[in-house]
Amino acid sequence: MPDINPTRLMGDLNHLRSIGAFKSGVHRPTYSADDMTARHWFAGRMREAGLDVMIDGIGNVIGLAAATGPRIMTGSHLESQNHAGWLDGPLGMVYALEAVRAITEAGGSGAVAIDVGAFADEEGHFGSLVGSRSFVGDVEEAEIDVARDMTRGTPMRDALAAAGLAGKARFTPDLSHYRAYLEAHIEQGDWLEAQRLSLGVVTSIVAIWQYRIVADGVQNHAGTTRMAIRKDAGAALMRLATTLHDAFPAVAGERAVWTIGRIVLEPGQVSIIPGRAEMVFQMRSDDTDRLSRMEQCLTEHVAAADLGGPCRVRLEPMRKGVPATMDTGIQAAFESAAQRHAPGRHVRMPSGAIHDAQSFARHMPSGMLFVPSIGGISHHWTEDTSVDDIVLGARVFTDAVALVAAGLA
Ligand SMILES: [Zn+2]
Repeated sequence: MPDINPTRLMGDLNHLRSIGAFKSGVHRPTYSADDMTARHWFAGRMREAGLDVMIDGIGNVIGLAAATGPRIMTGSHLESQNHAGWLDGPLGMVYALEAVRAITEAGGSGAVAIDVGAFADEEGHFGSLVGSRSFVGDVEEAEIDVARDMTRGTPMRDALAAAGLAGKARFTPDLSHYRAYLEAHIEQGDWLEAQRLSLGVVTSIVAIWQYRIVADGVQNHAGTTRMAIRKDAGAALMRLATTLHDAFPAVAGERAVWTIGRIVLEPGQVSIIPGRAEMVFQMRSDDTDRLSRMEQCLTEHVAAADLGGPCRVRLEPMRKGVPATMDTGIQAAFESAAQRHAPGRHVRMPSGAIHDAQSFARHMPSGMLFVPSIGGISHHWTEDTSVDDIVLGARVFTDAVALVAAGLA
């Protein structure tokens, strides 16, 4: 079996951490100068590993192996959320690169090509998984034409031009050559740590169902309007939010989650009764039946709030995704590699976060491996994983890639 080089692995991860460093994390939003520095540096490391490397018109950094037989894609992403952690994305990138280096040093994978891809904007500064969806042919030019950076509002076309990518073609290969996609990632939750485990073999990636809930009341003076005649849209929504948080544990079970991440009161002034209020309600599960039951619960509570007055309350669906199932053969490869390196310290689990693997799962057998996040923290600069867990994860990932490659030879 191939053997990884822990010093080389940690050296590459720490170098990426130094690009756009922010406290103990990084700030590398998609197509920023630091993000492009990281892409070009990583492209160089891929070339040193013997891959034929390009940065395409969407910013994907693709390293192709010379072998001409069946292909495996491995990878993740390089950019970060704003002011966030150092491992979200880069961990999977350096694992993929190290797997290629270790397998090459152990004699190679014969006719099976093991490619590495850093897929642009997994973090969704401009859209949803646009880099990996571009690679698999699921992005139209029109989508890029209208996309804007959600932080600064910069059109995606302008950002691509500033990054030196305007006019470059997007690389969309013949997918029939690809037999598998393997990705490693930090867990970004506390499931592994809470059970004192070191590895998670992902069974599925959750679907996100999202709704806008709008309350319409009457905007008026906060001092002169008697309480008895108010139609306070903010109060109506907050009452509803509380009843939803009370009702949902019974329908959500142990793993499904829900979040009210945004509440807007209009006009949002301290001395004005809100005339209109809206909140975004998001639910995630890998079980569509459960999501349907949660939606039913949501619908009933919104209807009751509307009926109860004095404000009108309505529900507007925004997004209704489909869970992505990970391939059972790739799950078995990760599990057997995990059992070899960390017997009894691994578990099968769903992913509560979205990942590039779900773009690939629509087109080819795909699988993911998780390593623990200390304190379950991610999308924050304190995000971290122990060096022991990082190195162990790289060994398991590399073995699993070698196993999948051997199965295709
Ligand atoms: Zn990520």
